[in-house]
Amino acid sequence: HLFEISKFSHEPAKSLDGITTEVCANIELLEEVVAVKDKGADGIGLYRTEFLYMNRRALPTEEELFENYKEAVDLMEGKPVTIRTLDVAGEKVAKGLMAPHEDNPALGQRAIRFCMRHPGILRTQLRAILRAASHGKIRLLFPMISSVEEILAVNQIVREVQQDLESHNVEFGHDVETGMMIEVPSAAVCADLFSPHVDFFSIGTNDLIQYSLAVDRGNKNVAHLFQPLHPAVLRMVKRVSETARDAGIRMAMCGEMAADPLHIPLLMGMNFDEFSMNPQAVPVVKSVVRSLDHGQCQALLEEALKLPTADEIADLITGTYGDLV
Ligand code: PEP
Ligand code: MG
Repeated sequence: HLFEISKFSHEPAKSLDGITTEVCANIELLEEVVAVKDKGADGIGLYRTEFLYMNRRALPTEEELFENYKEAVDLMEGKPVTIRTLDVAGEKVAKGLMAPHEDNPALGQRAIRFCMRHPGILRTQLRAILRAASHGKIRLLFPMISSVEEILAVNQIVREVQQDLESHNVEFGHDVETGMMIEVPSAAVCADLFSPHVDFFSIGTNDLIQYSLAVDRGNKNVAHLFQPLHPAVLRMVKRVSETARDAGIRMAMCGEMAADPLHIPLLMGMNFDEFSMNPQAVPVVKSVVRSLDHGQCQALLEEALKLPTADEIADLITGTYGDLV
């Protein structure tokens, strides 16, 4: 079975009824691209870009960032690379930029909030990303968007950076799709208000679960309450997927919920164009996708949404697909 899984890992993940879902990988370091390719991922669905900003004296230069992103797209040889802008809380960033201590950093000035506070940092990163996009297929992804004002503001900054590159005759990619993470409940609930302003959604279940269930994703004492199959999570994810379909925009999931075969039948009952996860899980997720039928998954999802607890939902899935998941 394991042999079968790895044998076909470089093939597209096409369901029994012929629908292909891209299965991509998440990375934090350029070095991980080797594993991404080795495991047969269809692209990089999430490049977390924090590393070059952390634990160092000075901020990275545009050139350093550009070289790094360009190498990622070069190595991926035409496959898409989704680059997420800096998602960090001030305290961890390069010295000299230390933000004040926050009692509750998960609810503080992290990610896009930090970047809007330091727009120069964001502009430098955007220049590097847009320039690298002239060398391959790049998608641009913004983390922790919680209000429409934020996405309008970042879109405005992207336009300004594009105009600036244009007016200085700097080469850059002109067809970069921009998207937002859906990882704060406000964005999930109001997805229809955001969809006109982006080319794609990527659901970040690590944070979406943390914020919607009020469970610190790193706290062992409450780890049992971190439930991807909680009815509230499923309802939100389903609603976002319907919104994306109605708006005709691309829909991805880049949280680790998509790495667990148990969750795939329900996710296949929605309308995902892409799942992205740690590279190691790619082959098995592809093989699960291949063994499922969308119509059956939709029916299973409808049943699951009637159940009151995560345990009952898990039992329903294993009762139906036990051998697969
Ligand atoms: C997420 O929140 O699900 C996600 C993919 O982002 P990160 O784990 O980097 O917060
Ligand atoms: Mg997140």
